[in-house]
Amino acid sequence: MNEHTTIKVPPEDGNFFSAPYHLSIAGKLVQADETFDVINPATGEVFAQAPSATAEQLDEAIAAAKTAFKSWSALSYDEREVYLKKFADALEEKRDELAYLLTLEQGKPLGTMATPEVDQSISYIRQIAERRIPVEIVEENANHVVELHHVPLGVVGGITPWNFPVLLSLWKIAPALITGNTFVLKPTPFTPLTALRYGEIAQSVLPKGVLSVVTGGDALGPQLTNHPDIAKISFTGSTETGKHVLRAAAGSIKRVTLELGGNDAAIVLPDADYQAIIPQLFWGALGHQGQWCVGIKRLYIPRSIHAEFVKAFVDYAKTVKVGNGLDADVGVGPVQNKMQFEKLKTFLADIKANGQNIVLGGEIDESQSGYFFPITVVDNPPEDSKIVQEEQFGPIVPILVYDDVDEAVERANDSIWGLGGSVWGRDTKAAVEVANRIEAGMVWVNEIHTQGVDIPFGGVKQSGLGTEHGREGRELFTNPKTVLIHK
Ligand code: NAD
Repeated sequence: MNEHTTIKVPPEDGNFFSAPYHLSIAGKLVQADETFDVINPATGEVFAQAPSATAEQLDEAIAAAKTAFKSWSALSYDEREVYLKKFADALEEKRDELAYLLTLEQGKPLGTMATPEVDQSISYIRQIAERRIPVEIVEENANHVVELHHVPLGVVGGITPWNFPVLLSLWKIAPALITGNTFVLKPTPFTPLTALRYGEIAQSVLPKGVLSVVTGGDALGPQLTNHPDIAKISFTGSTETGKHVLRAAAGSIKRVTLELGGNDAAIVLPDADYQAIIPQLFWGALGHQGQWCVGIKRLYIPRSIHAEFVKAFVDYAKTVKVGNGLDADVGVGPVQNKMQFEKLKTFLADIKANGQNIVLGGEIDESQSGYFFPITVVDNPPEDSKIVQEEQFGPIVPILVYDDVDEAVERANDSIWGLGGSVWGRDTKAAVEVANRIEAGMVWVNEIHTQGVDIPFGGVKQSGLGTEHGREGRELFTNPKTVLIHK
């Protein structure tokens, strides 16, 4: 680490990092008999212990959420809005500490990724607190009036991954709570700390049992998905785990929202001002260590500009420093965990074994203790290669050459996934026509990764089931209930 640029700021409250982390159950901060190690991916060293909940403690959290549901769901939207805004205010007070902790446990750069993630989460809670699903009159005649209500489901279980531990979990909690549900969150054991801390903060502002946070070993996820008192599972993670969740949910016909993996294609059209968009393409693919669900995982470039594009892309990539996310001039941090680091090595080994053309990166400095993976660009590997067909979820991107746009669209769509995608060109109308042919839940045209409270987001094919955000997303935390009133 480069000492003189290390961000020394923070955290006024040193205790925030060193004091024991608690489970939040039934309004109380609870210690567990056992703990597990949390590793800083920039050093590869254990820097904290997280509580490992027992099955009984998870049961207790679910029981408390079930009890709390009665009074929480009986509140008006306006009353719940007040609570959510208090929660947002309380998080804001600890914003710097949460961001710093997020970099410590996740690895992402503090200034450009961790702090914005915390800020966006707080803003999301404030905005969603003001959203409503009003009762609609769907029919009225001389005989009756028919009302459509959207009633809360009950206790929602949230299961989240390690790439955006704060944002992705609050994207679930905030809409669930405003629509009248209570919530039990089980974060991934790779990045449990920020959620544990905001769970503790929540206990000081939310009524008892409305939000519990429970961390621990592999048994907790299945316990949550199999529990009869959980009405819905809101899951973000890999497609393989999503299938387990879906099977388990069948046991009690739980509602599910599944935000799963992807293999997003970006199609650069022949008329694109490719020099101008290279920063967006670079950060959309390789920023955040390539650990975006909607990261650009395949980059399709027309043959006419291919050679110049590769050169310009690589030149730009060379300006970006890989290192500890606490270092102010670092653009790309470490891969989040050893398992993912090892998985990325299998992509690299396959690329090399098949003689594919690595034009940047490709050599890991094994003397480093953190999980630092070099920014790696592979030029035009075959369409059926591992790096094109599978989800790398790391800082390796293949640049793929196409001859005509129909062919590019066909190759982009030839995937089991359909999460996101992007199309880039000067002629916006033509680019939109291409975007309309991409089989994905979300396609950006000449921008990337914009998300928002009112912008529905969800995958098609094996990228997911259901939607987050927008009225569509909020409605999935409710059951439609039709009330017919005779006149
Ligand atoms: P993962 O599927 O390994 O783990 C996700 C969560 O599921 C963790 O909390 C884990 O403990 C839990 N879990 C594991 N087995 C379980 C089981 N049998 N039952 C219930 N829960 C279980 O995913 P990950 O490696 O943490 O995250 C990376 C993946 O997530 C990538 O595929 C990425 O594309 C995807 N992702 C998708 C989105 C999206 O919005 N679509 C967002 C971020 C990440």
